[in-house]
Amino acid sequence: MSQHIRLTVLGSTGSIGKSTLDVVARHPDRYRIIALTAQQQDELLFEQCQRFQPSYAVLLDEAASERLRQRLAAAGLETEVLCGAAALERVSTLPEVDAVMAAIVGAAGMPPTLAAAHTGKKILLANKETLVLAGHLFMDAVRHSGSALLPIDSEHNAIFQVLPGGYAGDMKAGGISKILLTASGGPFRNTSLEQLKDVTPEQACAHPNWSMGRKISVDSASMMNKGLEVIEAHWLFNASADDIQVVVHPQSVIHSMVQYVDGSVLAQLGNPDMRTPIAYALAWPERIEAGVAPLDLFAIARLDFSAPDFTRFPCLALAYQALRAGGTIPALLNAANEVAVAAFLDREIAFLDIPRLIEAVLGKVARTDVNTLQDVLDADAAARVAAQEWIAR
Ligand code: NAD
Ligand code: MG
Repeated sequence: MSQHIRLTVLGSTGSIGKSTLDVVARHPDRYRIIALTAQQQDELLFEQCQRFQPSYAVLLDEAASERLRQRLAAAGLETEVLCGAAALERVSTLPEVDAVMAAIVGAAGMPPTLAAAHTGKKILLANKETLVLAGHLFMDAVRHSGSALLPIDSEHNAIFQVLPGGYAGDMKAGGISKILLTASGGPFRNTSLEQLKDVTPEQACAHPNWSMGRKISVDSASMMNKGLEVIEAHWLFNASADDIQVVVHPQSVIHSMVQYVDGSVLAQLGNPDMRTPIAYALAWPERIEAGVAPLDLFAIARLDFSAPDFTRFPCLALAYQALRAGGTIPALLNAANEVAVAAFLDREIAFLDIPRLIEAVLGKVARTDVNTLQDVLDADAAARVAAQEWIAR
């Protein structure tokens, strides 16, 4: 009956979640929110429930979910509050849900995203960790169930936009010779190795162009974010490590490019505002207004490009190695990085310890093949134990 696209937003209180709701609010005729989820931010989730009146709200934290339940009842709202990780999978697979915005941060976002893929939902994929951890299983699920998969990460969304016929599946079939994945270089693009020893979480989180959650901000500072994105591009576009070239482009105006065999290079440009890729994915194959200011090329005036520095940013090299090694190695890399970033944010380790910790974990936990979800979960758990041991050593 309804003409609306019915949405679950996983991680609605985060940076991507809030931007998603901003775009949705501009188009009440097109989208209806069925479920919103957060880890523990019940106050913001309450405000979002008042505004969007979802059928379900999920919190991971028991006490926070009880507070939300009481506030909703007092306000006379009928949103049902669920609690726990299993509820994330439930609201991602409901028959009345058409599309799932996967915007939880970290490996915790993988199980509900995978569940959405198994049930054939349209998936708006911000949680790149799903592909890093379980790319093979996730892409198989998408193919078998016939899910539409739209990348939200600005680079992959840009590549999707400039591929022939949208998603070509196999990059060779479309006459593509290379994917040029742009990187801002982050806040430490010009910081010397000597200075990198003493940088703080505050400096790492102060991104020059993008406003994002703290974990991905640190990943941008170490360039692990770009490394994870290389692995993400591998799965999304069936590209090998050699097919993907990282290009440092400090203005963040070109969001990525595709080079074709005839010498053409197609790029997607725009202001660095995640509402553009979100709106594109929500409305694809149509286009909708996103609240983003038009690009002022005269104000930008110039676009710069350079090669990445693997010496100052060893995380990028580690990610390329992990992609080439395959099996559970990318999952180990991701888990070790998550522990390292949390420890850096808590001032337990230094910035340059992040790649050291990851290398130590990769040297300690053995690679296995990925045949089942359990293989991935076991690798993730083993890497977290090894990472904590390294910190406590
Ligand atoms: P964020 O930290 O701002 O928000 C994360 C959201 O996930 C919050 O709603 C939080 O409550 C929820 N959450 C956190 N831990 C959880 C857990 N263990 N279980 C359930 N929910 C949990 O993060 P973000 O910057 O919005 O990033 C979200 C995802 O999008 C990440 O995978 C990131 O790599 C990707 N991404 C973000 C951006 C960006 O501009 N922020 C750009 C590209 C890709
Ligand atoms: Mg990105």
